[in-house]
Amino acid sequence: MTTYDPNNIFAKILAGDIPSVKLYEDDDTLAFMDVMPQAPGHLLVIPKQGSRNLLDADPAVLSKLIPVVQKLANAVKDAFDADGVYVAQFNEAAAGQTVFHLHFHVIPRHDGLPLKPHTGGMENIDVLKANAEKIKAAL
Ligand code: 5GP
Repeated sequence: MTTYDPNNIFAKILAGDIPSVKLYEDDDTLAFMDVMPQAPGHLLVIPKQGSRNLLDADPAVLSKLIPVVQKLANAVKDAFDADGVYVAQFNEAAAGQTVFHLHFHVIPRHDGLPLKPHTGGMENIDVLKANAEKIKAAL
């Protein structure tokens, strides 16, 4: 299937049908904590308009989304006193995509500290909430 499925899990988060730990929202964009973080502070940025990924996204949507990715990358770098920030985005299963609503991963990186595996263990909700508060405070 290569069309957008409006029943994907991030569409359900946008609709409020399943919970998420949100840290940023505007008219076009939502950011929330990844439930299986590869490092503390791992967040996801999604457009409210549905597309499977970057390949079928409306450029007008991207033009609003990318400044938010930048803003949150700077915020997470400050909040976690990081040495760098990893921004990742996968297109289709062959590239590692598992949720088919466009999203950017934003992950603070520290020198010498490896990332945990992609879609590894679930983090405790209170830890996610505390990390979201740290990022919000840096916005
Ligand atoms: P992808 O491989 O599609 O780029 O990554 C999807 C990401 O979404 C993974 O990092 C995974 O941990 C995260 N994820 C999957 N299901 C949920 C969920 O229900 N809530 C949240 N907050 N993150 C999720």
